[in-house]
Amino acid sequence: MVTGSLADTTDVDVKELVEGLNFAQKVERSLSLIEQTLAEFGDGLVVANSLGKDSSVVWHLAKQVSPDIRGFIVTTRFKPDETKQFMAEEVTRYPELRVFSNDEEIPDRLYASDPDRCCDILKVRPTRDAIREMNVTCWVTGLRCTEGRTRTDFKEVEERDEGLVKLNPILLWYEREVWQYLALNKVDVNPLYAQGYRSLGCWPCTKVAQGADERAGRWIGTSKCGGECGIHTRPLLDRKR
Ligand code: SF4
Repeated sequence: MVTGSLADTTDVDVKELVEGLNFAQKVERSLSLIEQTLAEFGDGLVVANSLGKDSSVVWHLAKQVSPDIRGFIVTTRFKPDETKQFMAEEVTRYPELRVFSNDEEIPDRLYASDPDRCCDILKVRPTRDAIREMNVTCWVTGLRCTEGRTRTDFKEVEERDEGLVKLNPILLWYEREVWQYLALNKVDVNPLYAQGYRSLGCWPCTKVAQGADERAGRWIGTSKCGGECGIHTRPLLDRKR
């Protein structure tokens, strides 16, 4: 349950803050949110690291607050080689990052015939495993409300699953501010960004795309186009598979 000053974040006008705060104020706010949440949840606070640019920011911020903060990565058999290589480097550098995946058999090209089911099996289920096995009571994500049409309806601190708080500490950041932070702090990023990608996922479902919607290159040609894999929209404390 969210208590104290963290509970106040549920009433803020997100859009007003996105436009009203400058870069430095947003960094300060993000660090403060992680500090407050860590004080409340202690070791139960764990960062979900997708190996994308936003996660790289959140991981770097969290490590400034406390080097002991743990994290998890959910990977799939369809991650691009560049992401797998970057994952290996990050896990070597940060042994407190645990990797979760689901290797069960699935139908061929399930990503094309039923991407929702594919994401549920390969992404949502291992996320549930991570939350259960690491005793997570507050997970920290790199979700941002300016990323695309499916991400406008989130709060900085949420409790979509009762008993599991979600902190979105960079919810207010623009894409430009993410790159500003990464450049200023010389943070290593997934090499796929050099090829023009703006939002990263599994190779069959990720294309280079231009335009206002940062996630427009995800699941192109399917009903999920520009959408979500489910970890931010599905229940995560469901113990049943
Ligand atoms: S992003 Fe594509 S390949 Fe990856 S789990 Fe989802 S549907 Fe399957």
